[in-house]
Amino acid sequence: MDLSTSIEKIPRIGPVFQKRLKKLGIKTVQELLFHFPHRYEDFSNLIPISKVKINEICTVQGKILEIKTIRTWKRRMFITQAIIEDETGAIKITWFNQPYLTKILKKDDYVFLSGKVTTGADGVYLNNPAYEKAFPGKDLVHTGRLVPIYPETEGLSSRWLRYILKTLLSYFKNKILETLPEKIIKKERFLPINKALWQIHFPESENLAEKAQERFSFEELFYIELFVLRERARLNKEKSVSIPFNIDLTKRFVDSLPFKLTDAQRKSAYQILKDLEKSRPMNRLLEGDVGSGKTVVAIMAALNAIKAGEQVAFMAPTEILAKQHFQEVEKLLKHFNLNIGLLTGKQDQFYSKKLKNQVIEISREKLLKKTLNGEIDILIGTQALISAGGRKDKVNPVRGYQDKDKAQSSQTSNGVKFGKLGLVILDEQHRFGVEQRARLCRGYGGQAKLVPHLLSMTATPIPRTLALTIYGDLDLSLIDELPKGRKKIITKVINPKEREKTYEFIRKEIKKGRQVFVICPRIEAGNKTTGKKDVLGWAEVKAVKEEYEKLSKMVFPDLKIGMLHGKMASKEKEKIMKDFKNKKVQILVSTSVVEVGIDVPNATVMMIEGTERFGLAQLHQFRGRVGRAGYQSYCLLFTESPARKTKQRLKALLTSEDGFKLAEKDLKIRGPGDFAGTRQWGIPDLMMDSLTDIRLVEKTRNAAKEILTEDPQLKKYPRLLAKLGRFRERIHLE
Ligand code: ADP
Ligand code: MG
Repeated sequence: MDLSTSIEKIPRIGPVFQKRLKKLGIKTVQELLFHFPHRYEDFSNLIPISKVKINEICTVQGKILEIKTIRTWKRRMFITQAIIEDETGAIKITWFNQPYLTKILKKDDYVFLSGKVTTGADGVYLNNPAYEKAFPGKDLVHTGRLVPIYPETEGLSSRWLRYILKTLLSYFKNKILETLPEKIIKKERFLPINKALWQIHFPESENLAEKAQERFSFEELFYIELFVLRERARLNKEKSVSIPFNIDLTKRFVDSLPFKLTDAQRKSAYQILKDLEKSRPMNRLLEGDVGSGKTVVAIMAALNAIKAGEQVAFMAPTEILAKQHFQEVEKLLKHFNLNIGLLTGKQDQFYSKKLKNQVIEISREKLLKKTLNGEIDILIGTQALISAGGRKDKVNPVRGYQDKDKAQSSQTSNGVKFGKLGLVILDEQHRFGVEQRARLCRGYGGQAKLVPHLLSMTATPIPRTLALTIYGDLDLSLIDELPKGRKKIITKVINPKEREKTYEFIRKEIKKGRQVFVICPRIEAGNKTTGKKDVLGWAEVKAVKEEYEKLSKMVFPDLKIGMLHGKMASKEKEKIMKDFKNKKVQILVSTSVVEVGIDVPNATVMMIEGTERFGLAQLHQFRGRVGRAGYQSYCLLFTESPARKTKQRLKALLTSEDGFKLAEKDLKIRGPGDFAGTRQWGIPDLMMDSLTDIRLVEKTRNAAKEILTEDPQLKKYPRLLAKLGRFRERIHLE
C-alpha cells in the first residue's frame, strides 16, 4: 500500500464506505490522509469523577457498574443509562437514541467518556458523552484529547474517519516523503510532513495543531502560487499575433461614441491595447461594477484586432446576452465597415457590410464557412463557439449559469473553426481553461501554433488576496468608476410591517411605466411540515414559484407578472426575458439567474426577498440591474433573519456602493468559499481562511518565486511537479 493506492484496497473500508468517500472526492490513500478535520473538540480535561463540575466538558475514566437501554413511550425515544465508577466516585451517564450502545459497552468494561456534565431531575449526569473502551497501551482516539471533527457528510461520521485515519497514519508512520522543499521547512520552521500529518489529525496540543495547520496552509497556497506563476511563464512563451495599437482608429471610434469615456475606461483600454501589441498571448481580466461600461472597452480591443486583420470571438454566458452584445456591437461599429456574426441556438444572424449594413438570418453552415474563411470579423455567441462536437457541455462551475439544455444549442458546432482568430473576449467569466484555449488555436491559418489573446470580463470584484492567488495567472484591469450622471440608487431595508406600503409604491412606479424585479433565494418552497429552522436559523425562505403565485393572484392581479428561474428550459427563459425587455411583463419574479449582465434600462425597482441569503457582492450586482436610464431607482431589501450579523452586513450595503469594498467584506464575513472559483482548487475547509491572509499570500508567493527562479522546470522537485499536475486537472476540467 502506498499513497496512490485506491481506497478499495484499504482493509476495513467496505463498498458502502468506498462510495461515500468517493462522494467527497476521496479516491486514494493520499486523498484520505489529506482529508483534514475542520475543527477539534477539546476533551483533554481528564479528571477524577469526584472533580466533575456542572456545565463543564470533561473526560472521565472508569468501570461500568451497570448499563441498560429503556424506551420512553411518551417521547418514543431510546435512552441508554449507565453508571461508571473510579476510585474517587461514580457518575450517571445518559445517551439518547443510541440503543446499540448496550451491545458495545458492557458491565465491567473500562471506558473513557468525554462530554458535558449536566444536571436534571435525576441529579448530575454526563450527557451524551463520546466513549471509548480502554485497553492497556491503547492510544485514545475519540476521548481524553483534542479530538478531530471532520466536515459533516452523510454516512461518514467523524468517529469512523478517526478510526480509519488512525490505522492509516500508524501504517504510514514516518514513511511519507516530504513534499515541501527542505529549504522552506528550515526557513519557516515548519513541522516535517509526517509529524504534521499526525498532528493535524490527532494533535497532542493546540499549539501543535496550529503548527500543523500553518504548514499545510502555507503548502496549499504555495502550490497555487507555483501553479499560477508557472502558468504565466508558460503562456509567456507562447506566440500570438502582435496587434498594433492603432491610435487614429481608436480615436475615431471614441469620437463616434454617444458618450464620453470615463477615465477608468480609458486607462483599462490603454492597458489592453498595449498588451495586445505583444507577441505573446494576453491573459487579462477586465473587472468593473455592473454598468461601468466594460463592453465598450472590449469593443475597442476588438476593433483594433479586426483592423489588424484578425478575427474576434466574443462569448457571453447566455443567448440573451449574446444577442444584446450583437446589437451593441452592431450599433457601435456601424461605421467601421465590418462583418459581424451571431451564432445562437436557433437563429444565426449576420450583419454584413456588403448588404448595406443590414442584419440577415443566415444558416449555421454558411456562418461557419464564413468564419473559417475569415469573412466574419467578429463572431458573437455563447460557449457554443468553442464546444467540441460529441461532448455534451458541462455546466460551467464558475457560475453555473449555463443551461442544462445547452447541448442543443451546440449540437451543430464541432467547435467553430476560425480562419484567423486573434482575440477571444469572454463576458462575465473569470477564466478560460487551457483546454478551451487549445481548442480555439486549432485551425489558425495553418501557422505554427499561434494562441489568441484573451480578454475576460467580470462584474464580480476580486479581493486582493484572491487576485494574488487563484487569479494570479491573470493580469487585471479595473474600471473603478461609473459613467457620470447616473443617479444614486436608493437602498433600504424594509420592515416586514411595511410590505403593503411597498407594494403600493411598486404599483405607483409601474403606473409611471417603470418595471420591477423581485428576487427570491429559491425556486420552490422548502419542506414546511417539519417547521425546522435551518443551520442559519431562519424558518422560511421565499421561493420564486410561491411569490409569483401570490403576486399575480392576490397582490397585483391586474398587472403582468413573469417568472424566471434556472430550472426553466432556455427557450422559456429567453421568451420571458424578451417580454420583460419589451415591457410586456411589468414585474419579473426571479432567482439569482437574473444577476448576469442583463440590461433593462426601464427597470427602477429591485426588490429582494430573503436578502440574508445572498452575498454582499451579489446583492450589489442585483442592485446594478436598475437605475440604468436616469430614472430614480430603488433597491428594497426584505429579510427574515433578525440576526445581528445580517444587519451588520446589510448596513455595509446601505453605506457603500463600492463593489470591491463589499467583496472584501464578504470575504471577511462569509469566508472565501463563496467566491467564484475557489472551490475548484480543492482547498480543504480548514485551510480556506488562508486565502484571506494577505501576509501569508505574499509569503507563499515569494517562496514560489524563489523556487522557480532557482529551478524553473522544477527538475529538482519532482514531487512538487506531480502536485501541480493534479491542479491542472482540477482547474482546467471546467
Ligand atoms: P457592464 O460593465 O455592466 O457590462 P455595459 O458595458 O453593458 O456595462 O454598459 C452599460 C451601459 O452604459 C451601456 O448602455 C453603455 O452603452 C453605457 N456606457 C458605457 N460607457 C459609458 C460612458 N462612459 N458614459 C455613459 N454611458 C456609458
Ligand atoms: Mg456586461
